[in-house]
Amino acid sequence: METLPAQPPQSLEALNRLMASSPPMVPGSSRAVLGEGPMDPPLAFVGEQPGDGEDRMGRPFVGPAGQMLDAALTAAGIARAECYLTNAVKHFKFVPRGRKRIHAKPTAGEVKHYRWWLDLELGFVRPRLIVALGATAALALCGKAVAVSAVRGPADLAGRRGFITVHPAFLLRLPGAQAREAAFAGFVADLAEARVLAVA
Ligand code: URA
Repeated sequence: METLPAQPPQSLEALNRLMASSPPMVPGSSRAVLGEGPMDPPLAFVGEQPGDGEDRMGRPFVGPAGQMLDAALTAAGIARAECYLTNAVKHFKFVPRGRKRIHAKPTAGEVKHYRWWLDLELGFVRPRLIVALGATAALALCGKAVAVSAVRGPADLAGRRGFITVHPAFLLRLPGAQAREAAFAGFVADLAEARVLAVA
């Protein structure tokens, strides 16, 4: 993916073939984890990058952060199957530690490098509203770094209708059940607001 093809992909299938056959920017991952879900959905969710479980299974949001997202979607009355789910960066970046592969945050340069894929992808999928999950997704979708705590809520994502909220993995990292419950309630409220905006 270092060089752009002379003729950009003309369909999501062609783009997916290109992504699947491209090497990761940072070597290590098993595959590109492609987005999944219907075309013309009310909502598309954009995360940071696949995690260890996603890299193994080849599907987005199937690991612990995905389970947290699923619980919040259910609580917000949103059917996952009706949404499109994808990531700003399509390959898992990690640091090996013993037998474990520890998530490593993509750099701004890496996010920028993958951005044209995401842009084309969302152009083909045509969601009514895009939800940026966390700072990396917001960076990819806004084209500049933003503080999620400052801009959380409805947002213009470089000309697309969007909503910025926290990443579900943030909830998993919070110490203490009380803090986690409060953050979960806030996340669910964001998803419910996004759902209403998507059909408005
Ligand atoms: N975190 C993400 O941002 N995306 C996934 O697909 C899984 C975990």
